[in-house]
Amino acid sequence: MAQVHVLREGSLEYVEGSSVIRPATVTLVKYRDFDHHEKYLLVDAGSSCDTLDDLNDWLKPHNITSKDIHKIILTHNHPDHKALIRHIGSPEGAMIYGPDYTYCNCYGYEYHVRKSEGYIVPDVMLLDTPGHEGPGDRSVLVNTWEGLVGIVGDLMFNSEAYKNPESTRKQSPESRKDIISSRNMIINDYPDMVKIIPGHGPEFNVKDILKELEIIS
Ligand SMILES: [Zn+2]
Repeated sequence: MAQVHVLREGSLEYVEGSSVIRPATVTLVKYRDFDHHEKYLLVDAGSSCDTLDDLNDWLKPHNITSKDIHKIILTHNHPDHKALIRHIGSPEGAMIYGPDYTYCNCYGYEYHVRKSEGYIVPDVMLLDTPGHEGPGDRSVLVNTWEGLVGIVGDLMFNSEAYKNPESTRKQSPESRKDIISSRNMIINDYPDMVKIIPGHGPEFNVKDILKELEIIS
């Protein structure tokens, strides 16, 4: 089983009725790879206000540095989710999986791959959840001892968006349609999911919300 740790909780502010994006959630996943070694990946890689020193401070309690990160999964390409991708990992960089086929790190190493949906390493699965930025958006599902955890990026900014996908921000009608269908797919296809880590708010327990909505008792 893998472990999930929120390194920095994302947030969102409302100014005069519309939302202003604040830094996005950065999540660490510790997993046992196919070679049985313990490794680390990040889901989303910092906002423009973040530095590599910030990331290393967040990693300190886990006794690792940014050089120990093997992979980065980007939920989407907006700048508040990928600011540090070029600086993470060992000299050849961390492998980057995101909506695009090509990413480049500071050592000039380029990646030309977009992994299809499914398990990327044991207990960590990529799931296509188009909507927020475009058709390439992804969520990450992680099997933990606690149960299935969904790291969903800005498909859901926060728990309010889980309850009502139209609640947080103006989106084009096409995006809105995709967001609602991706959100419903997560809710319907993964009924055992215990926790969701959204892009700009605290993690939340799915059962608590379903009770609040009186969907379950
Ligand atoms: Zn964001």
